[in-house]
Amino acid sequence: MNAKLIAEKALKELQYDFRAFSIRGLISHISEMKGREIITIPWVMPATVFGAWMSDDEEPKEYIFYRDNVPVIHQVHIQLHELSHLLLGHPTLRINRKKIAEVFEERDSLPFADLPRLRSPQQTECETQAEALATLIQERVIQNSNMDQLLHDLSSEEKLANFLKTMGLS
Ligand SMILES: [Zn+2]
Repeated sequence: MNAKLIAEKALKELQYDFRAFSIRGLISHISEMKGREIITIPWVMPATVFGAWMSDDEEPKEYIFYRDNVPVIHQVHIQLHELSHLLLGHPTLRINRKKIAEVFEERDSLPFADLPRLRSPQQTECETQAEALATLIQERVIQNSNMDQLLHDLSSEEKLANFLKTMGLS
């Protein structure tokens, strides 16, 4: 099956009402559907990385790290792309509360560089599918005239504060 068809199938299964789209609303919808808390975290990413999704191997949590020194519309796109990897069930890195605490104490760093290797040799396929699904979601938002919602999200500061609170680090 080609990437477009796989993405269309995932979009259909999502059963989301795009008339009420907001990035926060979509994230809660996916969260409920998967029974996993989804936490999006603005992050200082390595030079060539825009975002990364990592899954908790101990608690029902999914983490989406994204570059925040880009315009908000791009930040939202990065989050949609990473959510698409999650929706498509692509292989991803496992982390947990202990690892995150170590990262915050600067005793460890997040394993962004391991992600392409982990998805290899399907890396290109995974990227094409995730991008196809993120694009379909954006098209659906635009069709439903919620274009302005692609330009809105909580501020990085608010999200980082929420994340630290969730992780018991603040
Ligand atoms: Zn990707």
